[in-house]
Amino acid sequence: MSIDRRNFIKKSAATAITAGLAGSCALPEEKSAVETPYINFNNTYEWKITTTWPPNFPVTGEGCNYFAQWIEEMSGGRMKIRVYGGGELVPPLESFEAVSNGAIEMGHGAAYYWAGKAPASQFFAAVPFGMNYQQMNAWIVAGGGRQLWEELYDRFDLMPMICGNTGVQMGGWYNKEINSIDDLKGLKMRMPGLGGKVLARAGGTALLVAGGEIYTNLERGVIDATEWIGPYHDYKMGFHRVAKYYYYPGWHEPGPVLELIVNKSKFLKLPSDLQTIIRTAALRSNVWMGAEFDAQNFIYLDKIMEEGNVDIRPFPIEVLEKLRQYTDEVIQELVEQDADSKKVYQAYNAFRNGLNRWSAISEKEFYQKLMG
Ligand code: CA
Repeated sequence: MSIDRRNFIKKSAATAITAGLAGSCALPEEKSAVETPYINFNNTYEWKITTTWPPNFPVTGEGCNYFAQWIEEMSGGRMKIRVYGGGELVPPLESFEAVSNGAIEMGHGAAYYWAGKAPASQFFAAVPFGMNYQQMNAWIVAGGGRQLWEELYDRFDLMPMICGNTGVQMGGWYNKEINSIDDLKGLKMRMPGLGGKVLARAGGTALLVAGGEIYTNLERGVIDATEWIGPYHDYKMGFHRVAKYYYYPGWHEPGPVLELIVNKSKFLKLPSDLQTIIRTAALRSNVWMGAEFDAQNFIYLDKIMEEGNVDIRPFPIEVLEKLRQYTDEVIQELVEQDADSKKVYQAYNAFRNGLNRWSAISEKEFYQKLMG
């Protein structure tokens, strides 16, 4: 590295410290960005990220590839991240453990996959009938959700970061009509998170199956129905070839957050600029994944309608009302059993109630009265 460049970086850091003291530009999540006096370009880092998705999976896998590329670019090549799909290093749903114990530095997935380790994690992914994409962003990025999430994962030596959103999902693929709540009785369905608990309350059986295995399970009748994401991904998964009915809306996942988990001890040992680069790349990925889902879903909804013999229809309102009631019961039971869930849900619910007062006269009005 040239002397000039080093001097420039030193000067930049000094400027940043001055600006930070003035209190004008420090973001709440960037606690230590100005502490490094200079950057040592001789120290390079080669990390791995494992995902819960098949390798190079559309949007989520691609987004992780971009995430790695952006980190390498922003760090001037000092940090390289190698991306592994689920099953390449560890099984998809074992990434939490692998990142927690430091065997792998990072993972990408969704927090409700870890309900068995920390039930409160589910509130950082999706709550049935809960907050949507925009609202979850507001809660986690600016409304206190991030701090609660970090506190919950601290005991696992993990640092969670918001890193994607699918937007409101579809309700899922069925081979029989759902005309009443009784039609869910005895149904074996792939459904993660709190939605799965609600399905169980309706008499169904919820199974957690990783993305790569769902098609085969549905085709072979191991499961009767499945939900996944929305038209783009679901088309790529081929569900329109093995299921007849495609129901909406995704009551169980109104705006599921995708998460990045980073081994916390290793993260904190990184130079502070690399910590900021990782946070920044995660936020960029958060925007990119949500945008890509929105940009592709309508195209693939058309494809499904044109190519398949699929009947796309809404859940009857009576079914949704019953599911909403079961959701309230499931959450009530959870917060009574688990102190973390109680704390997180109280914050979640207070934020949602507040934001809904605004959303009711802004977004909701737009969708109901202004959308062309
Ligand atoms: Ca889903």
